[in-house]
Amino acid sequence: MSFVIPAPPTASVEIAGTDDRFPVRRIYCIGRNYLAHIRELGNDERKPPFFFQKPADALLPSGGDFPYPPQSNDVHHEIELVVAIAKGGKNIAAADALDHVYGYSLGIDMTRRDQQNKAKKDGKPWEAAKGFDHSAPISPIHPASDIGHPAKGRIWLAVNGDIRQDSDLDLQIWNVQEGISHLSKLYEVMPGDLIYTGTPDGVGPVVTGDVMTGGIDGIGEIEIKVV
Ligand code: MN
Repeated sequence: MSFVIPAPPTASVEIAGTDDRFPVRRIYCIGRNYLAHIRELGNDERKPPFFFQKPADALLPSGGDFPYPPQSNDVHHEIELVVAIAKGGKNIAAADALDHVYGYSLGIDMTRRDQQNKAKKDGKPWEAAKGFDHSAPISPIHPASDIGHPAKGRIWLAVNGDIRQDSDLDLQIWNVQEGISHLSKLYEVMPGDLIYTGTPDGVGPVVTGDVMTGGIDGIGEIEIKVV
């Protein structure tokens, strides 16, 4: 057997401080996981978590350039804790969920907000709003064996040095364990999956030339330039 065209490369993320990489299968994202962000967008506060995906090849390593995407005039940053899954499973109990985690990083769920608002209004999928090229900036992954499982800590994002998002992981409605448990009831979670766990309030637009910086206490920082 041989491939009829060159096989696409396996998407992967740097492991902090090493030459090793984490191979990526799927990128899941949790919507609406911080109350203040639900309120700023006027969404229902009582719904269970829901999920969408970005393609694995949308990953953009920290330090890279984010090309302002076509077909949008309102592209927003969403800083998020990212969970890397090492062990798969279905119907994972929240109490067991941390056993499935390899480590943590931080990502920016870049969003064409105008496309998303139009999709919501028309009852159409979010694909073009969330899953576009380079829409998943990500920082190097820190293994849980090094940093443990952060349940609290400052999460922030600045644009050109001005703080836009400034919150704490302990304000997540669904914590990491609960997020993995919910997700594993919908899909068989597999090694190589990443989960972007939702953004706090303060989302807003970027323009070409902006520099986004962000961080989570204990997990490092990210820097991405909009070009
Ligand atoms: Mn998000």
